[in-house]
Amino acid sequence: MPKIIAGNWKMNLSLEESHTLCKALDAIKSTHEIIIFPPFVWLNQMTNSTKNIAIGAQNCAAFDNGAYTGEVSAKMIAQTKASYVLIGHSERRKYFNEKNASLILKVKQALAHNLNIVFCFGEDLEQRKKGEEKNIVKEQVLDVLKDIDPQNYNKIILAYEPIWAIGTGQTATVEQIEAIHTHIKNVCKEDLNHVFKILYGGSCKPSNATQILSTKNVDGVLVGGASLQYDSFHSIIHAV
Ligand code: PEP
Repeated sequence: MPKIIAGNWKMNLSLEESHTLCKALDAIKSTHEIIIFPPFVWLNQMTNSTKNIAIGAQNCAAFDNGAYTGEVSAKMIAQTKASYVLIGHSERRKYFNEKNASLILKVKQALAHNLNIVFCFGEDLEQRKKGEEKNIVKEQVLDVLKDIDPQNYNKIILAYEPIWAIGTGQTATVEQIEAIHTHIKNVCKEDLNHVFKILYGGSCKPSNATQILSTKNVDGVLVGGASLQYDSFHSIIHAV
């Protein structure tokens, strides 16, 4: 079964490094869908130099156009020929104070410009310690998706990223991953009548990728740190 292997480069890699890595990834023969999220400024070059992998932006504005200094609209992203946008990453929620109200607008903007979406959700350590994770993730997902036209559900992929596992080296156990993925698939089926694909993200690396990718209800992975080097990302792509 083909999986989705996505790499979130965050604010890393020069233009030259990005170009070299994208070209190398584009040459990999794989049945899996590979998506790369480079920084905004490299999008055009990356879409022009690849044809087998998908390219996406790491964020988009909540508005169509106008006086929003420093923002980049979904319409502009679509013009770079990028086909995806990452919305709701925990670093955006934490450092840029993104809340559900603006995430709904961003999802709508992305859909209006025919972009596919990887929508991130996940609990923090305190919420998990209190046993609140299932309620938190349900709320994060449903609060945004219930406002979206069901006709567009097939353009949305979800990504479960427990905040305590991102960039920490601490991966969630397969039991924890399977429990949340199964919970969200069931909740979405019951409340929205749609089964979404769900990626796992949080310290995924070559040594744990096979196990994560073989876990029930895991449709792929969203990789941060290990997507910055060809060897580690290549190993993850070939882990299944
Ligand atoms: C991420 O930021 O989406 C992520 C999963 O990061 P890392 O793989 O480095 O934990």
